[in-house]
Amino acid sequence: MFLEGKRAVITGSTSGIGLAVARALHSKGAKVVLSGFGDAAEIAALCEELDASHVGGDLSKREGVEELMAAAGDCDIVVNNAGMQHVAPVEEFPVEKWDAIIALNLTAAFHTSRLAVPYMKKAGWGRIINVASAHSLTASPFKSAYVSAKHGLDGLTKTLALELATFNITANCISPAYVWTPLVENQIPDTMKARNMTREQVIEDVMLERQPTKKFVHPSDIGAMALFLCRDEAANITGSNITVDGGWTAQ
Ligand code: NAD
Repeated sequence: MFLEGKRAVITGSTSGIGLAVARALHSKGAKVVLSGFGDAAEIAALCEELDASHVGGDLSKREGVEELMAAAGDCDIVVNNAGMQHVAPVEEFPVEKWDAIIALNLTAAFHTSRLAVPYMKKAGWGRIINVASAHSLTASPFKSAYVSAKHGLDGLTKTLALELATFNITANCISPAYVWTPLVENQIPDTMKARNMTREQVIEDVMLERQPTKKFVHPSDIGAMALFLCRDEAANITGSNITVDGGWTAQ
């Protein structure tokens, strides 16, 4: 239980990857604070399962992030995971979707970091883990906002790593390729439209086509990597962008 006594806030942890990370950190003794939207009864059940609290604000708004961090209290571990996607050609890309994706996938991580770092410095220990994407390292068509935000998150992570290197605080990205979660399932209809494809073609010819393993990554794979980054053995891993992508970015 090497995380006993540590407190972790995981954004977007009512579902998918964030929930898997919360489960992993809880399994080693961390006190976890959940965030994100969802059915009230399901969230209450998750809070009971993980002995967690939950803050449900909108993290695409600065006030939402500030409320989360105030309610979470002093956190040793911050996992910036909340994210959204929209798929459309650039000339049709809804401007409000661009703004929302940049705000949630990138700016929220700046706000949680700036708010968490003073306590981490005082504590002499901290972990900032940013769930980026293979799209923080490569691009795909029709995902201009997402690719831009994730590349930005990689840049933010490197900057934090340099600023915090002497404080025993690490900052890293974990970059998955396709993980089977609601975020992925929900982008199938728009991708069908943007590429004029069937659902099966989107899964096989778009999503798994570039994934050499031809399999989706499991949310628990990301949880396990996040857990490793919290270990003392990972103290010298900082400013890294660690791919968990079935070989996607090796191509
Ligand atoms: P998901 O849709 O299953 O979960 C997203 C979580 O974020 C949910 O808890 C949701 O309630 C929360 N959320 C969404 N909008 C929010 C907002 N405005 N304010 C607060 N919370 C909000 O998604 P996921 O697939 O688990 O994705 C998690 C992260 O992993 C994202 O940053 C995503 O970009 C990244 N990622 C996912 C994949 C994939 O294939 N699933 C691949 C690479 C990267």
